[in-house]
Amino acid sequence: MTFTPKTCPSCGRKSLQVVHKSYTRKARGRSYVVPALEYLECRLCKEKVFTREAMATIERHAPARPRLRAA
Ligand SMILES: [Zn+2]
Repeated sequence: MTFTPKTCPSCGRKSLQVVHKSYTRKARGRSYVVPALEYLECRLCKEKVFTREAMATIERHAPARPRLRAA
């Protein structure tokens, strides 16, 4: 049920493709890696587009945030 945009918001072409890559992000001066993240990347301009699920995954890996631990 996830809405997946296919048109690149940067170049306007329908060139987005789903990729699975580790994604390095910076937050509060620290960088962290989200391994095997699924997101959309434009083949032409390399624009990244994150779905809501991808954003949630990024949030879970962000530092300095309370984490829910599985019992
Ligand atoms: Zn593009």
